[in-house]
Amino acid sequence: MSLPAAVLAELRAVLPAARVVAGDADRLAGYGRDESEMGEHPPDVAVLVESAEEVRAVFAVASRHRVPVVPVSARTGKSGGSLALHGGIAVSVERMNRILEISSGDLVARVQPGVVTGVLQAEVEKLGLFYPPDPSSLETCTIGGNVAENAGGPRALRYGVTREYVLGLTAVVPTGEILRLGHRSIKGVAGYDLTGLFVGSEGTLGIVTEILLQLLPRPRHAATALVVFASVEDAARAVSRVLAEGVVPRCLELLDDGCLAAAAKGSPGRFPPGAGAALIVETDGNDADAVFAELVRVAELVRGDASGEVLVAQGEAQRRELWEARRKMSSDLKLLHPMKRSEDVAVPRSRIPEMIARSREIGARHRVTVASYGHAGDGNLHVNVLFDRADELPRVDEATAEILRTAVDLGGTITGEHGVGLTKRDFLEYEQGPEVVAVQRRLKAVFDPLGILNPGKVFPPALGA
Ligand SMILES: Cc1cc2nc3c(=O)[nH]c(=O)nc-3n(C[C@H](O)[C@H](O)[C@H](O)COP(=O)(O)OP(=O)(O)OC[C@H]3O[C@@H](n4cnc5c(N)ncnc54)[C@H](O)[C@@H]3O)c2cc1C
Repeated sequence: MSLPAAVLAELRAVLPAARVVAGDADRLAGYGRDESEMGEHPPDVAVLVESAEEVRAVFAVASRHRVPVVPVSARTGKSGGSLALHGGIAVSVERMNRILEISSGDLVARVQPGVVTGVLQAEVEKLGLFYPPDPSSLETCTIGGNVAENAGGPRALRYGVTREYVLGLTAVVPTGEILRLGHRSIKGVAGYDLTGLFVGSEGTLGIVTEILLQLLPRPRHAATALVVFASVEDAARAVSRVLAEGVVPRCLELLDDGCLAAAAKGSPGRFPPGAGAALIVETDGNDADAVFAELVRVAELVRGDASGEVLVAQGEAQRRELWEARRKMSSDLKLLHPMKRSEDVAVPRSRIPEMIARSREIGARHRVTVASYGHAGDGNLHVNVLFDRADELPRVDEATAEILRTAVDLGGTITGEHGVGLTKRDFLEYEQGPEVVAVQRRLKAVFDPLGILNPGKVFPPALGA
């Protein structure tokens, strides 16, 4: 769409000119890209807001002119949620990056949405506290983006995902209300759980301008080990065996042979050569002996399936190197094939071996390489379809569609943490059915009756739209 001329003038009347970015094609292109590989969808204008009141003023301008508004944070999203599909106004929270308060007494942190997740973690850890959610993008992604996507990470196995830590938040909705939701107490059941509704709403209900997070005391010890297997089937069986015994380490990350081949190029020396799969296991707690004992217990349980020794990381540096290699996996896979479609399905834990086997079979049938890694302990697998040329896209599309439907057929979901966004909106109904999708559309209309906030995300365009 082309922006009505009055919109820029009205935005400049409510915000300082330096915080209204227009006419700078390079800068706007940056706001139109994320990590979803869905191409470039730049906004017509980007506004760099600093408060809830400013967001409200932007919504007022957008509502008057029926212009789309897209919330944008660090743009590490993998489902295209921050792309300005229909142009309009990108509302960036990048300047709202202050930690407002860390309270050891109440075990809470109050932050602005643009705070980088890793920065918050480092700050609370200095005080002996712990913010567990650890998306692999934590050095760049933000708490606002994590709340919008209900982000998870390796530690979700023991500690859960972002939702478990959001006690409250402030959200500005398109109708102009500034909603202060939740409470500082751990418990609280008054009214509907609107805080929970906003977590994972993918920037389609309102723009979050402040978040109150629950913290934990920091576990004093963590131990990490690497186990290698002859095949991914063996590794998947080992994951099921550990969990079936009731042992829940803080992380249980699986990498298949394709991922290990990619790591051999991108992070040489981190994994033993020639392995068919690997598991990274991490335990934690306050008692060093108990932490190590839990790691030994896991080692005992996987020994029958493993193809070599359990390698325990010696010291912090080795632990960091191992996790660094894991965090780089998404980009390292491109060293095998330059193009990639990355899905993040989740299945019940007992179906992990079947999900992996069926993904590989689907890849073979469509003549594309499939490489899987992920938070196998909680059933969340990053299934990557790798390819070399754009003319392979029809086969890639068919393969990814089958992979998504397989996850649902196995009792799981099309997305365990990256969100539906643009990339998976056509599969939401397959998972949830038309009634549930219709109710969600009605719910969105309560907050956004004009349909100006992040249109085209989560739900496929309505018929006739
Ligand atoms: C290498 C890599 C590894 C990753 N690993 C993980 C992982 O382990 N786990 C995981 O869950 N994700 C992972 N991700 C995906 C991504 O980092 C997360 O989805 C993250 O939460 C996005 O945060 P962001 O700040 O980049 O948000 P953006 O990408 O800018 O935005 C994401 C969505 O949130 C909305 N949004 C942003 N800010 C606000 C706000 N203030 N109010 C309302 N809506 C808002 C946007 O409109 C968009 O829909 C990974 C990504 C990469 C590139």
